[in-house]
Amino acid sequence: MTNYIFDIDGTLTPSRMKINSNFESFFSNWIKDKQVYLVTGSDKDKTVEQIGENIWSNVTCVYQSCGNQVWKNTKLIKENSFFIDSRIKNTLDTYIEKSEWKFKFDNNFEQRVGLVNFSTIGRNCTQEMRDKYYKWDLKNREREKICEFINTNFSNIEASVGGQISIDIYERGKNKAQVLDDILGEVIFFGDRMEIGGNDYPLAKRLIQEKRKHKLHKVKNPYETWEILKKKY
Ligand SMILES: [Mg+2]
Repeated sequence: MTNYIFDIDGTLTPSRMKINSNFESFFSNWIKDKQVYLVTGSDKDKTVEQIGENIWSNVTCVYQSCGNQVWKNTKLIKENSFFIDSRIKNTLDTYIEKSEWKFKFDNNFEQRVGLVNFSTIGRNCTQEMRDKYYKWDLKNREREKICEFINTNFSNIEASVGGQISIDIYERGKNKAQVLDDILGEVIFFGDRMEIGGNDYPLAKRLIQEKRKHKLHKVKNPYETWEILKKKY
């Protein structure tokens, strides 16, 4: 049976926001006779808020925190733990201080299950600032550069860009690709960040490297996902 894997932010919902209600009805119905897996950097509460209890409970499996916490039909079945040490903490503090982005807010580090979410702007920023930072970062590539630095200089950890303002940091190898340890066979994968440094990249890369039967849908937004599902699957 074909396995369908979906990223959430930017793929099923606008980043950090709720799913479109018409798309929610369509998707709730679409998942019924299929093997559907959700893979996101967010935690359970945020995901339920975004896609609703119905979809969250009825897909085959939900991989929170990039697969570091796994839920199957509302039951917790796996959890990894991860904390950053002082060396990486100091490096990231320097990035906050030296960031050329001018408007700084609190909550730069958010401890999640199996990963730490880091942003130079701070998660307490407004939605308006979040959108502005995102546009600024597309030009300035701050997040990409931080990830590149971490990935080259710290052999035990790994970082990737996700959502609009932050990066996820976790134990090396404990990225979204780890879900493929459980999901065997053909995979159709929908994600919005499959480029190098993006949080969907490791999963896409592993599918290609393993030469398993797969199809990648690199989408720009949830509407594109919806269109593809209507037309193709
Ligand atoms: Mg995404």
